[in-house]
Amino acid sequence: MDIRATACPHDCPSTCALEIEVRDGRIGAVHGAKANSYTAGVICAKVARYAERVHHPDRLTHPLLRTGPKGAGQFRPIGWDEALDRIAEAFQAVAARYGAEAVWPYYYAGTMGLVQRDGINRLRHVMRYSRQANTICTRICEAGWMAGVGRIAGPDPREMADADLIVMWGGNPVNTQVNVMTHITRARKQRGAALVVVDPYRNATAEVADMHLALRPGTDAALAVAVMHIALRDGHVDRDYMRRFSDDPPGLQAHLAARPPPWAAAITGLTVAEIEAFAARYCATERAYIRCGYGFSRTRNGAAALHAVTCLPTLTGKWKHPAGGAFWNHRAIYPWDKTLIEGLDVRSPAVRELDMSRIGAVLTGDRADLGAGPPVHALLIQNTNPLTVAPDSNKVRRGFARQDLFVAVHEQFMTETARWADVVLPATTFVEHDDLYNAGGHSHIQIGPKLIAPPGECRSNHQVGQGLAARLGARHPGFDMTAMQLIDATLKASGWPDAETLLRLRWVDAQESFEASHFLNGFGHDGKFRFAPDWAAIGPHHEGMPRLPDHMGNTDPARPEAPFRLVTAPARQFLNTSFTEMASGRKLEGRPTALIHPADAERLGIEDGTRMRLGNVRGQVVVHARLFDGLQPGVLVVESIWPGTYFEGGIGINALIADDPAPPAGGAVFHDTAVWAQAAEATLAVAAD
Ligand code: SF4
Repeated sequence: MDIRATACPHDCPSTCALEIEVRDGRIGAVHGAKANSYTAGVICAKVARYAERVHHPDRLTHPLLRTGPKGAGQFRPIGWDEALDRIAEAFQAVAARYGAEAVWPYYYAGTMGLVQRDGINRLRHVMRYSRQANTICTRICEAGWMAGVGRIAGPDPREMADADLIVMWGGNPVNTQVNVMTHITRARKQRGAALVVVDPYRNATAEVADMHLALRPGTDAALAVAVMHIALRDGHVDRDYMRRFSDDPPGLQAHLAARPPPWAAAITGLTVAEIEAFAARYCATERAYIRCGYGFSRTRNGAAALHAVTCLPTLTGKWKHPAGGAFWNHRAIYPWDKTLIEGLDVRSPAVRELDMSRIGAVLTGDRADLGAGPPVHALLIQNTNPLTVAPDSNKVRRGFARQDLFVAVHEQFMTETARWADVVLPATTFVEHDDLYNAGGHSHIQIGPKLIAPPGECRSNHQVGQGLAARLGARHPGFDMTAMQLIDATLKASGWPDAETLLRLRWVDAQESFEASHFLNGFGHDGKFRFAPDWAAIGPHHEGMPRLPDHMGNTDPARPEAPFRLVTAPARQFLNTSFTEMASGRKLEGRPTALIHPADAERLGIEDGTRMRLGNVRGQVVVHARLFDGLQPGVLVVESIWPGTYFEGGIGINALIADDPAPPAGGAVFHDTAVWAQAAEATLAVAAD
């Protein structure tokens, strides 16, 4: 048995350094690399069981052609040549009739590998197919972080181990990036550090925290602003730091005066005592590390909220201290030259860009989304499952049901999106192809080499791109290279060691110096942190954004016809819809379940295990109730993303989610939804009337 080194490709900031047992063309146990200073030998349970996923009997292993109605899941096997010929012919016919922009290659982060994830853009740019605005996950965070900080980087996440206080704001790393807990645990053991979790429900991380602030969804900015008010009131601001490193200290201080704890308590639903206690903890140490999760950004006011949180260490000057400041993502520390991978040399800004979060609106012909271009008549989908994952699932499904839409899906399993395809292509997993990774949640660059042969006829995303390019006449040097050649050339062009060296070293740590990562020489923009962001420069939907850090009251309000605020938080055993195919994970998760406060449950006549129907103007789903006092009355939490097939009616939780673009630059508002809730039988009775 060999132990082979690689990296986890999944849509998770941890990008763990892995060691995988390989024997006779199969993988066995998967371990975290102990020698990697971030992974530190720890990985999540779902990837530790990865052999179950790789060698799963339900893997797609042959190209398939639809034989029944769209969505019926009726296919017959075909050969690769026929499959690629059919896709190329469909794309050529669509482009000839409607223009190249009627073809939309659609992808996201099913793998985070630079070659196998982003290579689809090379085909797009060479063929001048519609571009994609990658809004669904990070766009709101990007906007909020860039608003003040001006550069997507921050203090080394390993510094959490040296903190006296870690604030996990809007995240649940026990479920979503277990390595964060490793470094928090070190701080608690070595320094007696405290962990505070800010999140609408007592998630698995909050369960083990020293303090949990269960605020109403979408009210995080109010909490941050009130803590700033207290810091100012109690003399914990660093005026010299603000003078040197921020844009408008007097303006901010005047603004904060009118936002005392009772103001924030009314908005957040927290008590004044809770806000004061959190502020006291935050102000008591220079070594306060705020780890920003994605959760609190997934609202219409998420960018404003993230900006407000980043103002806290600026007002108090904590950025300059070891283990002080805030962190969201490390994107800016990797200066990639992705010309070969993505075909950036032939990208044209004149080609239309479509918002991936609004795929339902795009496919159903919303002119505001299509702009001056044609309707989309052909899709090539890699690394994502929009029928389940994208907002407003019913609208997305209506789009996929169009008879004049050709859909090719390249996937590992028969996802809901694949079921609606005309041609399905079987895809490799990360142990069956070569790829290159950089981490968002730490600072390592790694290569994940091919470890075993793929099952059946599976091909990598890069191979599919090459096959289509040959048929479509798409010319670019990147199509003539193997994945490893692309990795090697990209590393060299970007100033990193070549592939051979990186494979030997296993990883390169790209962490910037303390001075750079703590912004000791200034922030992005003009060197100054912006309390007053230029929102208009960040995105077109900036109207109504607060001039200074503030609560923005633009969320979907609880109201008589939709009195609950719904959060669709990530489950522990799934990662979006990846891993839902593993029976072991589904067993641990149970079934689609809504957490509901006991007071709400009593009022609605709901008991533990009751079938509940949740709904709003976009749709309805049936889940089972779990009574839970770790959230405020009026809040519901459904951990997911369960495929729609696990819900009565066959449509998943994202049927309830609006596809509104979040201010100022777009992004999906997964945790900003008002719904009604009833015992399912009661609803059925009303419907029968
Ligand atoms: S914690 Fe994240 S990066 Fe690490 S193994 Fe699990 S999914 Fe992969």
